[in-house]
Amino acid sequence: ADTRESDAQDEKIFVSIRLRPLNERELSNNDVADWECINNTTILYKNSLPERSVLPTAYTFDRVFGGDCSTRQVYEEAAKRVALSVVSGINSSIFAYGQTSSGKTYTMCGITEYTVADIYDYIHEHTNREFVLKFSAMEIYNEAVKDLLSSDAMPLRLLDDPEKGTVVEKITEVTLRDWSHLKELLSVCEAQRKIGETSLNETSSRSHQILRLTVESRACEFKRSQNSSTLAATVNFVDLAGSERASQILSAGTRLKEGCHINRSLLTLGTVIRKLSKGRNGHIPYRDSKLTRILQNSLGGNARTAIICTMSPAHGHVEQSRNTLLFASCAK
Ligand code: ADP
Ligand code: MG
Repeated sequence: ADTRESDAQDEKIFVSIRLRPLNERELSNNDVADWECINNTTILYKNSLPERSVLPTAYTFDRVFGGDCSTRQVYEEAAKRVALSVVSGINSSIFAYGQTSSGKTYTMCGITEYTVADIYDYIHEHTNREFVLKFSAMEIYNEAVKDLLSSDAMPLRLLDDPEKGTVVEKITEVTLRDWSHLKELLSVCEAQRKIGETSLNETSSRSHQILRLTVESRACEFKRSQNSSTLAATVNFVDLAGSERASQILSAGTRLKEGCHINRSLLTLGTVIRKLSKGRNGHIPYRDSKLTRILQNSLGGNARTAIICTMSPAHGHVEQSRNTLLFASCAK
């Protein structure tokens, strides 16, 4: 019964909410916190204004984190189990979803680093196997895929490989030496991501970032037998475009085009996740966007998924926060 229960748990998408503290700007605007985590699984709308009474005031998820929770805690309780399945040969994806400035990047940076540190710990404890870690990073902006470890601005093509599924052609893949090597590569990514940004948060609010870590392992030579298998799997850390891009109707020119494309990737992801959470039968429209094509092997099937929805508690953001909770509710 125990195994069946944990299998069922692994199949489900793990959905959590991370509420950040009010920031300086919200405080100086005399904004107030609308939301509160009342226990480990429930987030509550505190302002029971009459006109809001038709909307739910309490929402329940696998886990909710209030403003006093550390990224370490979020990692341990909402991402670690899914992320570390990569060492057992199981693909996985960890998503940060939420409006711009709600804490997606803040959360995902920490989670990526903690995961890689834990993988190195695991490797040091499992000396009977040999491990190779490979890292790549990309950004999807306007449905164009860009290599974040290369200064080449040419968009990368997606190809259908009969064995591997969708692959990103010519993407830079670096074999990691150690944890500090990862830190170096992350700063390269950050620098690449800033190029072309015209104002703070401009590109990052409109683009999706995927950091991928592939873990390959096999039994050491002296332990190898006929049936000792090679394991390979990928974990994806996905820092999504601001979720306001899925709901905003933009006015003209390039902005409209960007808005549409971001809508497409975010909306397709929403549809894919909704369908997966309702059971895995029927057509899943992975091919409708670049984001879902790239992640297809790490989303659904035997893969494990965790979604961390980040939220501002501020009353000024109540509409976006409602949208985020709606997305999160559809995913669980
Ligand atoms: P996003 O990527 O969703 O646009 P960021 O991660 O860049 O948002 O966060 C916006 C700002 O809020 C950053 O300055 C970040 O350091 C801060 N921040 C986000 N989440 C938290 C948190 N849980 N605790 C403290 N500061 C946070
Ligand atoms: Mg960000």
